[in-house]
Amino acid sequence: MTERKMATIRKIAEIQAIPEADKICAYRVDGWWVVEVVGKYVVGDLVVYAEPDSWIPTEMAPFLSKGHEPRVYNGVKGEKLKTVRLRGQLSQGLLFPLSVLGERHEIFTISEGCIGADVSEQLNIQKYEAPIPSELAGQAAGNFPRFIPKTDQERCQNLYEDIFIKNADAYYEITTKLDGTSFTAFYADKEEGVCSRNWELKLDGANENNSMVRMFIDSGLQSVFRQLSRNLAVQGELMGPGIQKNREQLKVPTLFVFDIYDIDTACYLTPDQRHALMDELWIFGVNKDMIQHVPVVAYGANLLDTLSITTTDQLLKFAEGPSLVHPIREGLVFKRKDGGFSFKAISNAFLLKEKD
Ligand code: AMP
Ligand code: MN
Repeated sequence: MTERKMATIRKIAEIQAIPEADKICAYRVDGWWVVEVVGKYVVGDLVVYAEPDSWIPTEMAPFLSKGHEPRVYNGVKGEKLKTVRLRGQLSQGLLFPLSVLGERHEIFTISEGCIGADVSEQLNIQKYEAPIPSELAGQAAGNFPRFIPKTDQERCQNLYEDIFIKNADAYYEITTKLDGTSFTAFYADKEEGVCSRNWELKLDGANENNSMVRMFIDSGLQSVFRQLSRNLAVQGELMGPGIQKNREQLKVPTLFVFDIYDIDTACYLTPDQRHALMDELWIFGVNKDMIQHVPVVAYGANLLDTLSITTTDQLLKFAEGPSLVHPIREGLVFKRKDGGFSFKAISNAFLLKEKD
């Protein structure tokens, strides 16, 4: 997937009143609801929409600092956009009139053809990423390899057409989204490697105590890769003490596999092929306590036929529920059974509890 577009041109699709609030209302752009002043926009208006997790420079929205000194991220004073509830109405992200683009929007007329255009850079809006703790970060050997896709998933709020129209007939494997850290291990033409979300890590003594490298070696995955001698990447969420908030209260580092990529064919294995390959890894000696499969909520579900889901709001409601031991999971990940399309639905209950 390409870089996430934090601020884009969108269209106001719907406006809803908020019970017992007459100064504010909820505006919808695609699958997102944003609370703003009544009358600021009408349906059909083009706007700039900044998604949750955007780092917004103070000048654009000083109110985000609530009277405190703004924070600083990558040298920019500002705040991170979080999910909030205002008068009981969920609000995610921020809307700006096109005039925020300044001069530019007078020079180039912004039309419907601009919908989806990424304006993050010109507005100096970045994606906020929490720093990776040093025990996990390790020493990098280089960038994430180009021959393997990164583990990102697109949010369902941005995919109405893809989900409800183009893939209306699709059947999905639905898995629990776990809140740890992204892990990829690969074997490619006798070369092997371990990667965090954006980096390949050194496999030498420099990272002897790194949790990712230890997982690769201690679980037996490294030696099983060598025995199988197939060009594969195993991707999962590394969970355990010291990783995020260890919400699942794991006693030891555990890898929950959610994808296996075939490097030779440049395709993800289908969920069925992945489950079969997991069995093979365990038979060959991968430690089953250290490497598991991510919990599966459904092996093959159609949104309408199986789940009676026809809207993004219903999909988000369905994403709520427990995880392994926590009553509030991060969300769900949907993967089409042929492995060709996937997205995530993050629980709003989870987002509303988010601290940072
Ligand atoms: P986010 O954590 O919001 O950046 O969402 C994408 C990330 O979710 C991926 O990079 C994975 O590390 C992680 N993830 C956790 N559980 C799953 C799952 N069941 N399927 C796919 N990705 C997952
Ligand atoms: Mn995550």
